[in-house]
Amino acid sequence: MANYRRNITPDVMEEETAERKPNYTAFDAKNYLNTKLKDGENEKTLRIRILPVDKDTNSPFKKVIMHYVKVQPELAPNGSKGYVCLHHQDDIDHDQFGDDCPFCEMNQLAYNNMVEAQKKLKKAQEEGNEEEEELQTKEVERWKKISLANKTTEYCVIRCIDRANEEDGPKFWKFTVRSDGKDPKNLIKKLWKARKQESIDDALEEYDVKKEEELPEDFEPVNILDLETGRDLKVTVSRVFDKDGKPTKKTSTTIVDYGKERPLSKDPEQAENWINDKKVWSDVFIVKPYEYLSIILDGEVPFWDKQNNKWVSKGRARDEEVKKQVREENKANEKYRKAKEKALNYDEDEEEDEEDSSEDLPY
Ligand SMILES: [Zn+2]
Repeated sequence: MANYRRNITPDVMEEETAERKPNYTAFDAKNYLNTKLKDGENEKTLRIRILPVDKDTNSPFKKVIMHYVKVQPELAPNGSKGYVCLHHQDDIDHDQFGDDCPFCEMNQLAYNNMVEAQKKLKKAQEEGNEEEEELQTKEVERWKKISLANKTTEYCVIRCIDRANEEDGPKFWKFTVRSDGKDPKNLIKKLWKARKQESIDDALEEYDVKKEEELPEDFEPVNILDLETGRDLKVTVSRVFDKDGKPTKKTSTTIVDYGKERPLSKDPEQAENWINDKKVWSDVFIVKPYEYLSIILDGEVPFWDKQNNKWVSKGRARDEEVKKQVREENKANEKYRKAKEKALNYDEDEEEDEEDSSEDLPY
């Protein structure tokens, strides 16, 4: 038998024919970094180690574009939930999901209608037609609202090890990217830059030189996110109080480096396992297909019709067999939802710009 150096071995084919990704559709609180404050809790501190999250670039930050939209309470107790945008999110399986997004389509349609109404409003003003002016003012407002309700929101996902719960393996932390830069992504970027600059300044002093170029060639500035020589981070989540000193639902986050330099793990094998863990962001923030999202856009609850293999609206289910399925799954979901609420300590009416606590239910 010839012994070729390259071959299509059973190992390769096992990998190829295996389920492409493990099935993480069932909600598991272990997959999420729990930064939520419980009622009455005003501050909590977590010690984490950041892992690369983007498989292509090794970046610690994954940009996720979502629509944060109104949903029925049974989908999210606070009445709003985030869905991955099928049009703007780059690294989802577009062969499977396509490129069209019902929320983006509605956003565009509403925007176009608003522009149309603005034109008509201008014309009415010019003609002094007050009745028409009033009508078109309302139309402009109406379409503007609908457009905004379907806009995209930029989130960031970080993958990390929670030092207090290392046995859970890598966890995902999703938050909105804020324009004021006070979100974890920007805080970490600032901290990384500051520590790098400090190490350069220290070296300039040590070698008594003026410019970075004059430092020894083997000088390497500090990289606090290095998996071997970097540091853990201390994340402090604090409740925001209003001007009367009353606690609000809002929180603020501060991030500093924790203690001395240390590797991700003293055990290199453990470190490798964490770094190369198969779970990716889209396993825990599950992408939903166009048909599902369209039902959400209609303000309905999607339901998987097993007989016809398609998403249908739960409320509009007519077929007796489908109704029976709905009833059964309702029961199962209720139990499930309660367990989840307990695990994540839901904030009932969270502010819209806050992190979306309503992750995916398994349907
Ligand atoms: Zn979209």
